[in-house]
Amino acid sequence: MIEFKCNCAMGSHKAPLEGFEISSGAINKIPEILKDYNKVYVVADERTYRAAGEAVEKILKDCGKYHRTLVLEGEVVLPNVETLGKIVLFANDPGAKPNFFAYSDLPDFILAVGSGTVNDSCRLASYRLGLPYGIVGTAPSMDGYASSGTPFLHSGSKSTVQCTTPKYVIGDLDILKDAPFKMMLAGIGDMLGKYIGILDWELARDYSGEYYCEKIAADVIDATNKCLENGYNLASRDKECIKNIMDGFLVTGLGMAYTGNSRPASGSEHIIAHAWELYDIEHGNRPQLHGLEVCEGTRLVAIMYKMLYEETQDAHLKELIEKYIPYFDAVEEFCVKMNVPPTVTDRQIIIDGIHRALIMRDRYTILFYLRDQGKFDEYAEKATDKLLEILNA
Ligand SMILES: [Zn+2]
Ligand SMILES: [Zn+2]
Repeated sequence: MIEFKCNCAMGSHKAPLEGFEISSGAINKIPEILKDYNKVYVVADERTYRAAGEAVEKILKDCGKYHRTLVLEGEVVLPNVETLGKIVLFANDPGAKPNFFAYSDLPDFILAVGSGTVNDSCRLASYRLGLPYGIVGTAPSMDGYASSGTPFLHSGSKSTVQCTTPKYVIGDLDILKDAPFKMMLAGIGDMLGKYIGILDWELARDYSGEYYCEKIAADVIDATNKCLENGYNLASRDKECIKNIMDGFLVTGLGMAYTGNSRPASGSEHIIAHAWELYDIEHGNRPQLHGLEVCEGTRLVAIMYKMLYEETQDAHLKELIEKYIPYFDAVEEFCVKMNVPPTVTDRQIIIDGIHRALIMRDRYTILFYLRDQGKFDEYAEKATDKLLEILNA
């Protein structure tokens, strides 16, 4: 448990995370990190098993803490009923001789080895089984490592199930640096979205009377700045750069636990990204990498904020946005120079996503502000055209 006093309206913050280790060779510290557990259940997919699961399994066997391993076959894009069922079923050997006088011999800890789906699925399984869990990250690709919500696919759509956060987040830089490059770009893209998320939070504080914590917001901005500062070194898989991204995910994940909501991690850029993702799910397409969707959402909403900055007569709003303009420019420059791939390029799908984002979540963001000013449709269209102009340049 992490806990500290704060000057904001909450007075103090706490998070159920017990610890994190982001360093070169971090997996070698697993015996020490998991000292209170003796029967660790490892869950990975085929790729993450090769990348780290096999090594983690050996470390656990060597220190006598190993229970069993489940390697999820094929490609699991989002947690679904089948994946969750497998994790629960294979927590024990389903072929073991039954003991009619006792319930099955459950593990005492679930260790997810992977990134998005494996982590999300284990979080939900952990919550349902009442077992603590931790994560060994294999790609610096998304901000959900320390999150408490789990996306869950069922009945052809996606919803979020509230669970708990992991007890431990372990990121071994020697493993993370070998992740597919596109996943790294997605990771930094997810972090760059925080500029919009925090500005939307400031907007909600001043125009909708919402709770805001200055310290948590400042920590998120600092972490995001660090990602951008040496972000170009991602091209050479620089470990320091990867560490900054992983640290950023922790800061935002903890921020969500501290405040009890996702303001520190997401705003309109995430809601629009989720709307685009839902479109793909509903049309039977494979969803794109979350961080890349968020990055495109960030570029789009940054254009809206810049338009608003030029047009508004509201001095306070102008001042609020002004602080973020250098960030938006740096993000755009980064995306162009690093060739961060767009995920949606169809004008109508982009615009429909913005419209859907307005109604799919009751959260005050620039989208609500524009709606209240009667400018929503105009901004959605103009910002989309401007974005497409940049993407097609
Ligand atoms: Zn606070
Ligand atoms: Zn995200």
